Amino acid sequence: MTYYHYFPSPFGKIYLVGNDGGLSRLLVDNGTKPFEISDDWIRSEERFKEAVKQLREYFSGERKAFDLKLNPAGTDFQKTVWQALAEIPYGESHSYKDVAVKVGNPKASRAVGMANNKNPLPIIVPCHRVVGANGKLTGYAYGLEMKRRLLDLEKVTRLFGRLIKRYGYLEEWWPAESEFEIMVGAVLTQNTNWKNVEKALANFNGKLSPEFIEKTETDELSEIIRPSGFHNQKAVKLKALCEWFAKYEYDTERVRRQDGETLRTELLSVKGVGGETADSVLNYAFDKPYFVIDAYTRRIFGRMGVQVPEAYVDLRLMAQSMFPASASVYKAYHGLIVEHAKAHCKKTPDCVDCPVNDLCEFKFERNVQQRAKIESGSLFETA
Ligand code: SF4
Repeated sequence: MTYYHYFPSPFGKIYLVGNDGGLSRLLVDNGTKPFEISDDWIRSEERFKEAVKQLREYFSGERKAFDLKLNPAGTDFQKTVWQALAEIPYGESHSYKDVAVKVGNPKASRAVGMANNKNPLPIIVPCHRVVGANGKLTGYAYGLEMKRRLLDLEKVTRLFGRLIKRYGYLEEWWPAESEFEIMVGAVLTQNTNWKNVEKALANFNGKLSPEFIEKTETDELSEIIRPSGFHNQKAVKLKALCEWFAKYEYDTERVRRQDGETLRTELLSVKGVGGETADSVLNYAFDKPYFVIDAYTRRIFGRMGVQVPEAYVDLRLMAQSMFPASASVYKAYHGLIVEHAKAHCKKTPDCVDCPVNDLCEFKFERNVQQRAKIESGSLFETA
């Protein structure tokens, strides 16, 4: 008797198929490969409960290995290759040649490629971790886009695992004494560094409140926040933000009770509030699960070799799909990005002693370039 079940995933609807011997197939309905549900198969949610749970944990970055009873159909050679694939560690990629060596037949790269392609349990048996000899992505049954996203998910999860080990879990990272101070800080930090924001905040001399900003003339407010730069524009933005806050009678609990999407839409309609400012306010001031994307996020993800979408919202949704939907997780992870960008991953990075320097593609490429320069002598040339 064959059973099946399906559930939605970030990659499309996933169908699980199996029998008493275990899970035999995982099919992804993402439009790249046609498949059919046989009339004989019986739908059973119960039988696949554990597999669905583990896959969901994997998609949210919480699980790195699967512990399921598997029963894939294949030749002995294919099964040996699939076993070797299952042993490639999370977040790493091996070449076909590596796998061929592992199965004891170094000349069988091509046969390994074919067995890889026939893997009936993708994701669980991680054939996406096999890449070309030069590190380039090669074919994937469900398309290269899905392969890239799976590898990115694992890279990002490993990145944060290392950053937590180095810097700790930084949930209380945003330096502010009240929700309103976070809101003001989110505007003042636009196009400047936090030291300047601190100077501007100190200029309020303990009088920072929405009522104070509301009654202070724009020119005077602009002088107070001068150290943050772009002070004339920021004064107007702070006034506009307070106007929005007034709709909630300056009551942070009332704001918190409103749903996140409504708040986000409202905030984005406030003059001078873009995606990063809105998400900083939502996440840090009102505990809504919105991941803050900033230039540091782009820099570090990009250097790690993650394919970073250009649009702010696409990168935010990509990041959010990789972690449990939790305001506190997003706060901590954004804090880690900022800490790491300041400690090591600066514009000119300080890669020595960086906690992820063995995973970083940028460092690897830089080393290759430097080696090439040294070999050609150009590193020591003088003008
Ligand atoms: S190795 Fe260098 S470039 Fe890569 S993340 Fe670390 S500091 Fe940044």
